[in-house]
Amino acid sequence: MELQRTAVVKLSVPNERQDDLKRTMDTFRDASQRFADRGWQGDDSGYVITSRSRLQPLVYDDIREDTGLHSDLTVAAVNHASDALSGCVDRMKEGERTSKPVFTSNTTVYNTNAITYFDGYCSLAAYGSGRVHAEYVYPDDSLQAEYMEGDEWTKQGAKLRYDCQSDTYYLHVSVKQEREDSSEGAESRTVLGVDRNVDGYLAVTSTGAFIGNADLLNHKRREYERRRNRLQQTGTRNAHLTIQSIGDTFANWSEDFLHQASKRLVKEAASQDCSVIVFEDLKRIRDRISGASKFQQWAFRELKRQAEYKARAHGIAVESVHPAYTSQRCSHTNCGFTHEDNRDGDEFACQKCGKELHSDYNAARNIAHRYVQNRLKSGSGRATNHLALKSGTLNGNGDYSPSTV
Ligand SMILES: [Zn+2]
Repeated sequence: MELQRTAVVKLSVPNERQDDLKRTMDTFRDASQRFADRGWQGDDSGYVITSRSRLQPLVYDDIREDTGLHSDLTVAAVNHASDALSGCVDRMKEGERTSKPVFTSNTTVYNTNAITYFDGYCSLAAYGSGRVHAEYVYPDDSLQAEYMEGDEWTKQGAKLRYDCQSDTYYLHVSVKQEREDSSEGAESRTVLGVDRNVDGYLAVTSTGAFIGNADLLNHKRREYERRRNRLQQTGTRNAHLTIQSIGDTFANWSEDFLHQASKRLVKEAASQDCSVIVFEDLKRIRDRISGASKFQQWAFRELKRQAEYKARAHGIAVESVHPAYTSQRCSHTNCGFTHEDNRDGDEFACQKCGKELHSDYNAARNIAHRYVQNRLKSGSGRATNHLALKSGTLNGNGDYSPSTV
């Protein structure tokens, strides 16, 4: 099994090289934009060009000639643009309206040719006199040093981010490690169902864990949008800079918020010995969260994405099921009565057996149940006979008891 992590390390950049690094970052952003513009313009048949190998020869030489950007960084810019264009095309296929990728963030992508890692520091390709050598700055009790120092973790590419508010460079390094597989071939699987919500709790599990305050996330987003709109009306250069900076701050905050939530989700799964975490398939999640904003949809996707890579480290798989009726069906053992009157906001009361549960907890149990049923129906392997739905952490009546608030 392969473990993957991202080490985030603050860099100490020598004063005399700050400008070189900043200029490299600005040029990298412009180069990514030129590739994206060209890809968006399309091929002879008018299709957006997403393939890096097709995109690269179209603008590469021009960019190198105009800017003198390091060849590996120019290649990274193609990749950066092609990822963004692929994302656009995916959204178009989903029937969403999409516009051309626009790069605004202070980020440079370094592949392993453009960055070299040493103990205590790295060297980065940049403008000016040779590579920039920047020392790592670790906080006291940091895991980051463990990732960065020695040979235990293999360091791959990195993203260099600049935070204008604190005038600081951070390096986000992908690291990986091979671990012996312990969970593969396990025959009995315990399933953790997860219900995601636009309000109340962001995620509720079939074991009764209530995770993340979705209202807080929405509140922070609205606050940010209000400030941004006000500043946009001002229109000054200063306002523009502030917009960028509050945008970065909010992006960091929401990423971190989701990291806390996904971490707790995976911890819950691990502590309950679950081998699978099951979400609802978002592409079909029309009925219950049809009012979800683009931002909320992003948050749902991001939560799952983060849970996926964190779960991998524990040998836990992440799957999804069709969401139909998961909020209307009674999850009580041997009942399964499905009716829209069963649910009233946060409260679920089965019209047939009388079972009362928190709605989200009920939905999470149904999500796990559906996964188990699908496996049984598909007859996938010997494991199916041992599938189990975990509900043991709840009280005897099956009532929810929020383990985390
Ligand atoms: Zn019932």
